[in-house]
Formats: sequence, structure tokens, C-alpha cells
Amino acid sequence: MSGLTCGVRLLEEGYDVQIWARDRTPNTTSDVAAATWYPLRGERDARTERWLPVSLERFTALATERESGVVLREGIELFRRPTDDTWWRDVLPGFRRARADELPSGYVDGFVAAGIPVIEMPIYLRWLTRRFESLGGRSVAISLTDLDEPFDRADAIVNCSGLGSRALAGDASMVAVRGQVVRVEQFGLDRYILDEQSTDGIAYVYPRSHDVILGGTREPGNERIEPDPETARAIIARCSMLEPRVAAARIVSHAVGLRPGRPAVRLEAERPGPGRLLVHDYGHGGSGVTLSWGCAEDVAALIRADRPATAG
Ligand SMILES: Cc1cc2nc3c(=O)[nH]c(=O)nc-3n(C[C@H](O)[C@H](O)[C@H](O)COP(=O)(O)OP(=O)(O)OC[C@H]3O[C@@H](n4cnc5c(N)ncnc54)[C@H](O)[C@@H]3O)c2cc1C
Repeated sequence: MSGLTCGVRLLEEGYDVQIWARDRTPNTTSDVAAATWYPLRGERDARTERWLPVSLERFTALATERESGVVLREGIELFRRPTDDTWWRDVLPGFRRARADELPSGYVDGFVAAGIPVIEMPIYLRWLTRRFESLGGRSVAISLTDLDEPFDRADAIVNCSGLGSRALAGDASMVAVRGQVVRVEQFGLDRYILDEQSTDGIAYVYPRSHDVILGGTREPGNERIEPDPETARAIIARCSMLEPRVAAARIVSHAVGLRPGRPAVRLEAERPGPGRLLVHDYGHGGSGVTLSWGCAEDVAALIRADRPATAG
């Protein structure tokens, strides 16, 4: 997703772009994302505050295109103790505090937002691929062993290899953060529900067109890609506390994704040799979708500053 987003953004600026990737949709981490545009606690800094609105604006515009897989929804984030809404009320579109009658048992506070983009990743990634191709982008299936190889064909490279950057960029600060989800048949849900802070593990219920995603887990250092049945049962139990209809919903499938965890997103340019520009855009952890268009904007700015599009 990061690579396609940057690719589209650079094509829009008039650059000639190729994507070199080992895996494509539906076989990437991005395909497993739930996914909402939603600012996560603990990931606030000057850069994310700049990236968030850029992505929100793009996704909001995309929601008017039926084939994009982006839908704007109202939803609620729940808290078991009173929670300060400073910052959130300015960042979340249509923000208001939840009414008491909106809080499930055990919860005392909640942030309601309207117009949050819920992005159905399999549909969205197909749309993004079509957009990339319609702008003239080309793709090459390749497993790279280093970041020098593409410089035989291009003088500017954007590294969007997610967890692959552990090896490709030799980045020892990268850690896989395992996320397991359960997909159940849509049962008429149109609001997302989220409990980020629960001590028993995060819980979220995200409606999509034909199913509902139940999550989740955040397991740093666990790289097991097989879904664990006991974890799935615990996810369903936690999500049933948020939305009782979950308990009776028919299970469609289970999935696991390894988030590209890093202490902070790496978005910077370096010069690995004369005439070579390497821009890194990886390590988005649990916010890759949320930050995607904002990061792509910064990537485009770094390339533009070094190589104006008219130069080819
Ligand atoms: C369960 C779950 C729920 C999530 N929910 C959300 C959410 O609600 N909102 C949100 O914002 N984010 C969410 N995320 C996080 C989001 O999925 C990630 O941050 C995002 O997908 C990262 O995208 P990426 O394109 O950087 O990496 P990836 O999707 O992993 O893509 C990396 C690409 O690099 C390629 N690559 C890697 N190594 C090599 C190599 N050596 N040679 C060639 N190609 C290589 C891969 O093949 C792939 O194509 C969730 C994640 C999970 C697992």
C-alpha cells in the first residue's frame, strides 16, 4: 500500500515510476489491515499531525468513488475510565462525546466521530493498482536482496518495503507486531466500535460491505502467521462486549498480518552514491493506512526538491 500510494502520487507529479515488489495484493500485510483512518494514541508527533489531515482529505474524497472501497462511517471509541479529549476533538471529524446510552456495560466514556474513512483493503488495493496502472505505472515482480540493485534502472528509489526493511535497509529497530483478526458475516452493522486501551487486549469491530472485521491483537516479536484458535475465541469474546450481535455472527475466515513496527516511521532521504537518491518510507506499525497519503506527500516533496519532474 505504501509503495502504490507513493507510486500514484509521483505519477500524478509527472515522474516515470516502476514498482518492484516481491508480493502484491492480496498477499501483503496491507491486505489484512482492518482498516480505518484513525489516529492512534502514542503515535502523536509533529509529523503525524501533518500527515493525518492529508490522508483524511484524500480518503474523504475517495469515498465519493464507489469502486475505491472507501466509506465514511460514524463510530465510537470506548474507554473504561474518563478520558481527556484534548487534541482528539480537533483531529477527529464530527467529534462529540458519547452519550451515556451509547456506552456498553463497563465503559464510562467514549469519543464519537462522524466521517471516519473505513477502507476495505482488498477493494482499495485493487483500486489503487488500477489507478497506478492507468497513470502509466508499471510493476515488476522481484525479490530484492539489497537496495542497490534498482539503481541500475533508476536514479531515485523509494523504499516502501515495510517489514522487509529489516533486511533490505539493515534496520535492526524494526519489529514484527502480529495482528490477528476474525472476519464474520455482515449482520447489519454500520458503525465502527473501538477499545484501544483494554487491559485484556485491544478490541475493534469494523463494518465492511459483506463482512465485519473483529480484532485484534498487538504482539511485538511474534511472527507466527497461522491464526491461533484460542486467540480467535478471545477476540470474539472481547468484541461481543462491544457489540452483542458479534457472538452469533457466522465466521467467514481468520487472518494474521505482521505490522512493520518501528519506534517511529522512517521517512527521510539519503544519498547512497553519486547521483543516487534513496527515500525511505517504512515502519508505519499500526497506522500505515492512516498515514499513507500524508507520507506519500512528503516522499514526493523530497524527490521534487532533488529531481524536478520535468527532468524525467
Ligand atoms: C490486523 C491488522 C489491522 C490493521 N489495521 C489498521 C488500521 O485500521 N489502520 C491503519 O492505518 N493501519 C492498520 N494496520 C497497519 C497497516 O496494515 C500497515 O501499517 C501497512 O499495511 C503497512 O504497509 P506497507 O505498504 O508499508 O507494508 P506491506 O503491506 O508489508 O508492503 C511491503 C511491500 O514490500 C515488499 N517487499 C518487502 N521486502 C521485499 C524485498 N526484499 N524485495 C522486494 N519486495 C519486498 C512486499 O512484498 C510488499 O509488497 C493494520 C495491520 C494489521 C496486521
